[in-house]
Amino acid sequence: MILRKKLIAGNWKMNKTAADAVALVQETVSLIGKQTDVDVVVCPPFTALESVAKALDGSTLKLGAQNMHFEASGAFTGEISAPMLRAFFATHVILGHSERRTYFGENDELINKKVLAALRNQLRPILCVGETLAEREAGSTLKVVQTQTERCLEGVGKEQAPTLVIAYEPVWAIGTGKVATTAQAQEVHAFIRGLLTNLFGEPAAQKVRILYGGSMKPANAPELLAQKDIDGGLIGGASLEVRSFVDLVNAAIAAK
Ligand code: PEP
Repeated sequence: MILRKKLIAGNWKMNKTAADAVALVQETVSLIGKQTDVDVVVCPPFTALESVAKALDGSTLKLGAQNMHFEASGAFTGEISAPMLRAFFATHVILGHSERRTYFGENDELINKKVLAALRNQLRPILCVGETLAEREAGSTLKVVQTQTERCLEGVGKEQAPTLVIAYEPVWAIGTGKVATTAQAQEVHAFIRGLLTNLFGEPAAQKVRILYGGSMKPANAPELLAQKDIDGGLIGGASLEVRSFVDLVNAAIAAK
């Protein structure tokens, strides 16, 4: 029995107009829009969510957002809430991406509020954790990942845990072309699985998908995806081209 279906999620960041996004997604749907062997999520910018949602209609691909506010509505100029995302049939939301932490000052306390708000609104959080290069070189990778994971998941119930997705994204590997070795990645993924076991118990922890993110490409994906605790990928750069994204999905299908 497959305990965890592999998941490939594309994080388009601040790229693509709505028209460009639809073109990309239509081509993607024509190639892999009916397969059910792995879960596939695309996360376009907010401005393309509605048109991408329409383009995904009738396919097996799912829609995610890249961020959200923790309140449902109110005086938060420039922000987007979970109910607004749900209205576009989004099912996932990336939270705590290192670019949000670095450039927008998001900390674990804020991310925790967002995780809880996502779960309250039936959105699956894709919670990003990961160390910087300085933290890795100082030997504090596991401590950093532990602190981020535990703080960001505070108050999450055992019964909610299986809907979580965690993305281990070493900051030094994001958009740099440097990829963690399979041993480095598997070590941290297994460690995160252990943390989840302590928090939620073994059966729930075994159901959580833990994705690797950081310069994942068709060339390095098969080896990463073959690791016991690597359940898919959060893909930045390689999700912006149909061919590389489809190849990554096919790599996940081959590794399932
Ligand atoms: C990301 O931003 O989540 C990411 C993994 O980017 P890239 O694949 O470009 O390293």
